[in-house]
Amino acid sequence: MRQNIENLKQQFDSELQAAATVADIEALKVKYLGKKGPIQDLMKALRDVPAEERPATGKVINDLKEHIAKLIDEVHQRLIQQEESNRLAHENIDITLPGRSRYPGRKHIINQVLDEVIDILVAMGFSVQYGPDIDTDYYNFEALNFAPDHPARDMQDTFYLSSNMLLRTHTSNIQARIMESTRLPIRIIAPGRAYRNETITARSHVFFHQVEAFYVDTGVTFADLQATMTDFLSKLFNTQVETRFRPSYFPFVEPGMEVDLRCWKCQGIGCPLCKHTGWLEIAGAGMIHPEVLKNGDIDPEVYSGFAWGMGVERLVMLKHGINDIRKFTENDLRFLGQFAGT
Ligand SMILES: [Zn+2]
Repeated sequence: MRQNIENLKQQFDSELQAAATVADIEALKVKYLGKKGPIQDLMKALRDVPAEERPATGKVINDLKEHIAKLIDEVHQRLIQQEESNRLAHENIDITLPGRSRYPGRKHIINQVLDEVIDILVAMGFSVQYGPDIDTDYYNFEALNFAPDHPARDMQDTFYLSSNMLLRTHTSNIQARIMESTRLPIRIIAPGRAYRNETITARSHVFFHQVEAFYVDTGVTFADLQATMTDFLSKLFNTQVETRFRPSYFPFVEPGMEVDLRCWKCQGIGCPLCKHTGWLEIAGAGMIHPEVLKNGDIDPEVYSGFAWGMGVERLVMLKHGINDIRKFTENDLRFLGQFAGT
């Protein structure tokens, strides 16, 4: 019995030497002091020891138990501290590292340019009006001289919500409303979204932004349109631009024009941006059709006016050399982040 106790003590001491981690020492504690451990076995075996030797043997067993418990506790504490200091040594914070960048929100490039366009035109005497995105066939088409069976309706593929309601195909849907309700002279711009049922490609999208501008008064002439447009574009592009007006057809103007801008990149010599023509298409424009004035209760014998519609995405693409309209709606921060703006 005494020999067993001595052997157990030596076995424990050597196993304790080998324990290197907190997990090792915890396993050792279960092994020696647990209910099925050798100390318990010795306690049970004490019954078989002769009565006169029992107190002395019991004391030896108890001493061994205390010895084991004390050493396990000491080593356990030491290993916990050691593992903690190792962890801290590896996890320390390097306060000299540069901080992470923050990305504050900013206006989308389309809105930045829209704001710029609005500021310039307001300074030139126009006031801003917003028409509804969802409108009737009448205000979007009929009042603008697109009769129900007018072939020009095919020029604009339309999202119909019902037989009479639709998503506006242009911000020109404001024209008749303003003419019906505003005293002359009228100088209005109407910025906003327009929608067309087109295939999405690098050059066209199902929605885009437009700025409609129109001016109605006595004696408004084509020269007013030309001068206002050229002045506006010069302010927008921060340089004296050269414009060119080519005859075109839109039902709500007569005559209708496409407005071209002398390519700002190559100064008209020819480059990839202008497809080597020296000119960039920038807007549709014209003198307001007499029928449209009549629809707005304005006498075309007394009054005349001009109107233009300009695609904002196209302006931004030209200004920044962007070749794919889809980039504006993809929410790619690498793209959007280039336009620090305001
Ligand atoms: Zn060019």
